[in-house]
Amino acid sequence: MRIDIVTLFPELCDSFLSASILGRARAKNLFEAHCHQIRDYTKNKQKQTDDYPYGGGCGMVLYAQPIADCLRAVQAQCAAQGRARPHVVFLTAAGRPYNEEKARELAGYDAVTLVCGHYEGIDQRVIDAFGDEEISIGDYVLTGGELASLVVADSVLRLQPGVLAEEKGYQDESYWDGLLEYPQFTRPEVWEGRAVPPVLLTGDHKKIDEWRGAQSRERTRERRPDLYDAWCESHPLTELPKW
Ligand code: SAM
Repeated sequence: MRIDIVTLFPELCDSFLSASILGRARAKNLFEAHCHQIRDYTKNKQKQTDDYPYGGGCGMVLYAQPIADCLRAVQAQCAAQGRARPHVVFLTAAGRPYNEEKARELAGYDAVTLVCGHYEGIDQRVIDAFGDEEISIGDYVLTGGELASLVVADSVLRLQPGVLAEEKGYQDESYWDGLLEYPQFTRPEVWEGRAVPPVLLTGDHKKIDEWRGAQSRERTRERRPDLYDAWCESHPLTELPKW
């Protein structure tokens, strides 16, 4: 898979994609990542990337032109590699909410391009002309789309084969099956008077799985009743624990 990030801060995005699990996977060519400077595609002498909003109001709006030209360059690079046209996502506070289901969907594309806004946002015309969708990572406003694009890139790239140490390791995590994960514990068995739940020390994997399943359902019911209700609807035959 190839991920491109279109941003005013390519170094910031690149350093994240070069660290830890993703950095190791990138070095092994398990995915390709490229971060592009919007400013490099400006056509004015000052290399200005933004201007006042039509209609007035505070803040500045990113020009359509340099973003469009950058996206055309990414498309040409993908075509030269024999890849399909990349799926283009604009990160916007007003986009549709992001979740694990969307991460799985994006992970199925051969190439995804993430476009980061800044200031007041991006001229809507380039979003309409090039965007396949607008995504928001939550009901709050960030100063720029960089963190949002990295959230999307991280959650998509970890699903690529070989990126996580254990094959399919991502399936045993919150949201994969619609529930939150059970609590995790490591050594020592007792820490500051708090003991690990005894069932985890039994070595009885059937019992451990049952305990983890019950914990997972209970946590989800308490913390995310919306997810719990949806899960119950899709698992009508599961015998639920008596609360
Ligand atoms: N004026 C915009 C609004 O009210 O919807 C907010 C602009 S925000 C200050 C600047 C940039 O940060 C946006 O163009 C977008 O790329 C990014 N951004 C802010 N919040 C975001 C969120 N929740 N999800 C995704 N991107 C976000």
